[in-house]
Parts: sequence; structure tokens; C-alpha cells
Amino acid sequence: MQYISTRGQAPALNFEGAMLAGLARDGGLYVPDTIPTMSQAEIAALAGLSYEEIALRVMQPFTGMGEGLLGDLIQRAYAGFGHDARAPLVQLGPNHFLLELFHGPTLAFKDFAMQLIGQLFQDAMKRKGERITIVGATSGDTGSAAMEAFRGLDNVECFILFPQGRVSDVQRRQMTTPIEANVHALALDGDFDDCQAAVKAMFNDHGFRDAVSLTAVNSINWARVLAQVVYFFSAAVSLGAPKRSVSFTVPTGNFGDIFAGYIARSMGLPIDKLVIATNRNDILHRTIQSGAHRKEGVSPTISPSMDIQVSSNFERALFMAYGRDGNAVSQLMDELRGGGFDVSQGAMEALRETYASGRASEEETAATIRAMHARTGEVLCPHTAVGVKVAEENFGDSPMITLATAHPAKFPDAVEAATGARPPLPARMADLFDRPERMTDVPNDVAHLQSLIKERIA
Ligand SMILES: *Cc1c(COP(=O)(O)O)cnc(C)c1O
Repeated sequence: MQYISTRGQAPALNFEGAMLAGLARDGGLYVPDTIPTMSQAEIAALAGLSYEEIALRVMQPFTGMGEGLLGDLIQRAYAGFGHDARAPLVQLGPNHFLLELFHGPTLAFKDFAMQLIGQLFQDAMKRKGERITIVGATSGDTGSAAMEAFRGLDNVECFILFPQGRVSDVQRRQMTTPIEANVHALALDGDFDDCQAAVKAMFNDHGFRDAVSLTAVNSINWARVLAQVVYFFSAAVSLGAPKRSVSFTVPTGNFGDIFAGYIARSMGLPIDKLVIATNRNDILHRTIQSGAHRKEGVSPTISPSMDIQVSSNFERALFMAYGRDGNAVSQLMDELRGGGFDVSQGAMEALRETYASGRASEEETAATIRAMHARTGEVLCPHTAVGVKVAEENFGDSPMITLATAHPAKFPDAVEAATGARPPLPARMADLFDRPERMTDVPNDVAHLQSLIKERIA
């Protein structure tokens, strides 16, 4: 299988090439040139299998990897999860289910992709006999998921920059308590934008980039999307697919998670609707409703992982909706730099055939946490609450599955404000606040960062 760029100007690559490249050289995102399908019988045969076996059957055709090797990497990726089902479903109401994606090591769904990508990178580097340096900036969740995924792996060094004093205590401790020497938490004297700017500057310094084999694992990486396709299958099959179709509501920011749902649907999984749930940073909801994709400023919310202005993976949805026309997508992305664009009527029809959308205000999000706790005892994180609120407005004939993207204990202040009770960390990480921390304070200075990284990997 080959991967092509959404902007049509970069060379096609195989799975490993697309994974190691991340972004295509023309600035586009990689998508498979054809999407493999599964027959009804093949989907039905997933019922009763372990998460790992489902993952192997769903992902293997996209990778070209041998079943033995991929199966091993999948086993290792999910061995550290705190629930045997990996992604269990719980029932919220007569036809409403919650897909708990927060049983990984950092308590958010990003672990599903990061843990696997860690294994895939390590394997690729071992076979190539090369080393890589991963550098990333985080406002909290992605960085801790990356450090958990890469800790202790061979041939990979991982540096994560976070804004000093501006991530939550849980998030910081998840980055500063791993003891393995190949992961490095760097507390930058600045804000998240400074962290991102520093990383970008390092990538744009080609001499440095080549000298340390700099690599990113950000949310546009195709391998991350692929890993997320699996739980759409496991959840749908456990509710009766392929005989019965289901719908999903996905708390959405960069559109990676919900695009994975689109891939599952394209593979033949009977999904009625994929509902985009946004907080008040609602560019995607406005786009689905009006056809106008216009940037507005970002306003901070209690669901910070969805506070976006540019939703990077939406480019993949546009590419599909425009009939895989890379030139059209290139032009839209140029217009987006100037503030926004109008989606063509044909593409809007294609998008609305797959996606519905809704938004939740801050008050509605808090009220949903409170009401769901009172009615069912289930404690939702704020991102999940956005999803539940929007799901309730989009019920149809088929069962609705809302993705629970993080554990409530990751956002204890917002949850406590809504319910009056502070959600405890799961028992397996209850000692997080007793573990010693290890981090390096760094100035907001690219040259300083570059010499620190070179020194550490020498
Ligand atoms: C990253 C994240 C999201 C948004 O997911 P996308 O794939 O960027 O749309 C939602 N909730 C939580 C808790 C997250 O960490």
C-alpha cells in the first residue's frame, strides 16, 4: 500500500516512510491511496476477539508488515494498560454508551496511538540501524503520552518542552517522574506558543535537524490515526455490528480521532453518523453547519485539549470530500492562512453525508458533568462531557457511542467544581505525587536548547 499527500505534490511513500516522515514534503498529510475494506463476514468474525487481535486484523492491511511482527508490537504497546478490555464500553442510558479510552498510562486516548508508535519507531530504527531524536512541545497531554511511549526504548531519545508553571500538576508529574535516561522533560521559561516556536525553529535548522535525526510525532502522523481506527471496530462489534449499525460522537480538536472513525466507516464498518463535538472553539461545528471555514481567536476552556483554531487533520477530510483533489486542497490551505475559505457545495454534501456536529458552552459542559454524575454515578472529564452533551442532541435509531477521551482525574479542578467531589487517580498511579521528579529548566533560547540536546544524545 502506498500513501499519498493531500496536496498532491510529494512522492508517494510506503507505511514506514509515511510514518517516519510525519508531514509530507509539500506540506500535506499522508493518506492511503486506497482504503482496504473488510467484508461483513470478516467484521462479524471480530466478535469475541481480544483488543489486540482486532487491532492486528484491522491495521495489518495498511502496514504491509508481517503478522508475527505487527502482532508482537501490538501486544507490547497495550500490555501496560489498566484494563484487560483496553477500551471498555459502559452504558449511560437506553441507547447511549461510553467508550472508555482512558485506561492507558497517561489516562487519555492518545496513549492508544503513542504506545503503538513507540513500538513501531523502535522496530524501524533497529532494522535501519539508526537512531532518532524526538522533540515535541506540549500544553500537557501529548507530551506525557509521548514520554510514556518512548521511555526505555532503544535508538530513540525523546525531549519534551512544556511551559514552566502552566501545565497541571498531574500532567507535569507524568512527564517528570519516568526514570529512564532517554526521556527528557524540559521546563521552558515561556508559554506554549514559545515552546512550539522553539520546536519549529529546530526543525527549520536543517543542519541541526540532520545532525540529530530530528523527528516529530504530532497528531498528523498517519500511524497515530491508524491506531485509533481499531476502537471504532471493537466498540461497534460489541454492540452488534455488522448486523446493527451504530453512531459515534467524538470530542474533537485536531480531527485525528474522528477521522479514524471515517476510515473505519470507509473500510465497511456500518457507522450511521460521526458526530463532531466541539467546545466554544467551534470552527468545525460552524463549518458543518454553514460551509464557511473561518478562523477565530482561541478562547481557553475547561476542555483544553480541544482549544484549537486550526484543526490540522481536517485537511484529510477535505481531501476525501473533494474527491482526492490535491490541487483543490492546496488552494484551500493557502486561503486558510489568510483567515478561511468556503467549502464547495459538492464537498459539503460529501461531508454532511458522514458527519454531523454540535457544540457545548462552558456552562453546558459543567452542567453535563453534574447531571451525568447525579443520574448514573459516571464521572466525566470535561472533554467527554462536551461529547455527551452533543451526543444527546444527535440520538437516532442506532446506538450512540460517545468517546470518553480522558480520565476525570486528569482535570480534577473542573470536575470538582461541577460535582463537588475531587476525582481520585486510579490505584495503579496513586503514588504519582510521591515519586521523585526530574526535569531541566531551560531558557526560551533555541541555541541553548540545541546544545543541550546535542550534549544529551552524545
Ligand atoms: C487530544 C484530545 C482531544 C481531541 O482529539 P483530536 O484527535 O485532536 O480531535 C479530545 N480530548 C482529549 C482529552 C484529548 O487529549
